[in-house]
Amino acid sequence: MNLHVDLKYRQWSLAFFTTFIFLICGSIVIIANGIYSIKNENQSILNTAVAEIDSILYSSQNTIYDTMPLVGLSCDDLKQKLIGIIVKKPSFESINISKSSEIICSTYDRLIHTTNIDASYPNNELILVKSKVINSGGAIGVIKESFNNYEVSVGIDVSAFFSSLYLINPDIDFKVEALGKWTDRSGDIYSSYYENNLSSKSSKYNYKVSTYISLNNYLSGIMLGYGWHFILLIFIAVFVWYFSYKKSAEKVMALLMKNSLEKKHFKPYAQPIMNSKGELKGLEILIRWEHKKYGIIPPDMFIPLAEKTGLIIPMTRQLITDTIQNLEYSYCHFPKDFHIGVNICTQHCKLINQISLLASCQEFMDSQISKQAYLTLELTERGLIDDIDEAKILFERLQHMGIKLAVDDFGTGNASLSILSNLDFDFIKIDKSFIDLIDVNTENSPIVDNVIDLAKRLNSGLIAEGVEKQVQIDYLKIKGVDYIQGYYYGKPIQLKLFIDEYLGKYKRE
Ligand code: C2E
Ligand code: CA
Ligand code: CA
Repeated sequence: MNLHVDLKYRQWSLAFFTTFIFLICGSIVIIANGIYSIKNENQSILNTAVAEIDSILYSSQNTIYDTMPLVGLSCDDLKQKLIGIIVKKPSFESINISKSSEIICSTYDRLIHTTNIDASYPNNELILVKSKVINSGGAIGVIKESFNNYEVSVGIDVSAFFSSLYLINPDIDFKVEALGKWTDRSGDIYSSYYENNLSSKSSKYNYKVSTYISLNNYLSGIMLGYGWHFILLIFIAVFVWYFSYKKSAEKVMALLMKNSLEKKHFKPYAQPIMNSKGELKGLEILIRWEHKKYGIIPPDMFIPLAEKTGLIIPMTRQLITDTIQNLEYSYCHFPKDFHIGVNICTQHCKLINQISLLASCQEFMDSQISKQAYLTLELTERGLIDDIDEAKILFERLQHMGIKLAVDDFGTGNASLSILSNLDFDFIKIDKSFIDLIDVNTENSPIVDNVIDLAKRLNSGLIAEGVEKQVQIDYLKIKGVDYIQGYYYGKPIQLKLFIDEYLGKYKRE
C-alpha cells in the first residue's frame, strides 16, 4: 500500500471515529438534558398540583372551623347558612355534620343518614372515600374535624384536583393517593398497587401526587422538544467530520514521522556541488524518509509538517549526527575547501531551538571532518524569520564556531534586503526557477542577471541550484557564478554511495 492511499484510509477512519464519538457524546448530552428537563417539568407540574390541592384542603378546613360554632343550630337553619358558603366554593360537593359517623345534616339532602364519615378517620387530612350517593360510586375527597361527638366534614369534588392541571398539561396522568387509596382523572377509587416513578408529597397533609413517565414518554418528549437539537448536532457533526478529516491527515503523518524518527528511518542523501571547472567542491545533504512499507518518501511530502510540528529539530539533529558518523567511519579525505551543506529552517533560529542546532554544530566541530571540511547551514528564504535579533545572535555564534551560512532558494521568498544585509551569509544559492530561465535560445536573461547582480553585491559566494544543461553551466560561468549544483553533475544519492562514488578517490589508506 502506498503512503497516499494508506494516509487517506487512516484519515477516513480517524475522522469517522472522531465524528462517531462526537455524535454519541452529543446524543447522550441531548438525551440526558431532555430527560432532566422532562423530569423537572413534570415534577413542577406535580408540585403545582400539590399546591392546588393544599389550597382546596386549606379552604375546606377553614369552612369546617367556620361551621363548628353553628352545629347547635337546627339542620334547616344550618343548611341555609352552609349553602351560602358552598355556592361560593365550586370544588365543594357538600358540608356535612355527622354524629357517630352518621350524617345528620348536609347541604346535599341525599347524604343525610348515610355513614360515609367514619369518626376514626384522622382529622384535617384528606380522606378518599367511595361516595354512596354522589358521583355514582366514584371517589370523593373528604376532610373532617371531630368535636364533642360530632364531625364536621367537607366533601370535595376530586375532579377539582385535576381540572386546572389538565389545562397545564393534558398528557400527564397523575394520581392522588391518601391513606392507601388513590384516584385519578377518571374519578374512580382504587386501593391496588400502581406504578409511579415521580411524585410530590404535600408537606401539610398526608397525601401525595404521583405519575409514571415511561421510556416511551421520555423518548417521544425528547423527539418533540429536542428534535431540532439533533438536527443541529448532525449539522455540527458535518463540520467535526470536515475538520477532523483535515486535521487527522496531519496527526497520522506526524505519528508516522515520530515513529520513524525513533527507528532512524530518516537518512542523509547527498548531491555533489562543483566549481566552475567541474571539480567537486562540496555536497548538500538532502533528507530522505526510507519507510519500510512505503519506500523512499521525498522531503517535500513531510518537511512542511515536520516544521509545523517541531519534529524538524530532532530530525535535523539526527541527520547531522548520521552525516558525521558516515563520513568519519568512511575515513575519506575531502578535496580542498570542501563544503557540507545541511538544510535548516526558520524554526532553528528561535532561541528555544538554537541549543539543539548549536549542539549539532559543536558535534561537527569536535569531529575529524571539521579539520578538512566546512559545515554550511542552508537557511531557506521561503520561511519568515520572526525575530531578526534572535537569528543574529545565532548566526554570530555559528560563525564564531567556524560554521558557514548560506541563504537557500534565493530570489523566491521573504528575505528582504535588510535581512540579507543584517545577517551575514557566506553563500547565496540561486533558486532553480531562475536557472530554468536559461535556455539555448537565451542570449541574456535579465531576471537571472539581476538576481546574480544582487547576490554579488551582497558579497557572498554564489551557488546555482538545479543546473541540468550544459548551456546553463556556460552561461553561469560567464556570469562568474562560483559553484554549480544540479542533475547535470549528479542526483542526490545515499550518503554511503556518495562517499564511494565521489569521495572514493580521496579515501585514506
Ligand atoms: P533545496 O534545499 O532547495 O534542495 C534542492 C532540491 O532540488 C532537492 O530536492 C534536489 O534534489 C533538487 N535538485 C537539485 N538539483 C536538481 C536539478 O538539477 N533538477 C531538479 N529538478 N531538481 C534538482 P529534494 O531533495 O527533493 O529537497 C527538496 C527540499 O526539501 C529542499 O530544497 C529543502 O528545502 C528541503 N529539504 C531537504 N532536506 C532537508 C533537511 O534535511 N532539512 C530541511 N529543513 N529541509 C530539507
Ligand atoms: Ca538547500
Ligand atoms: Ca533550493
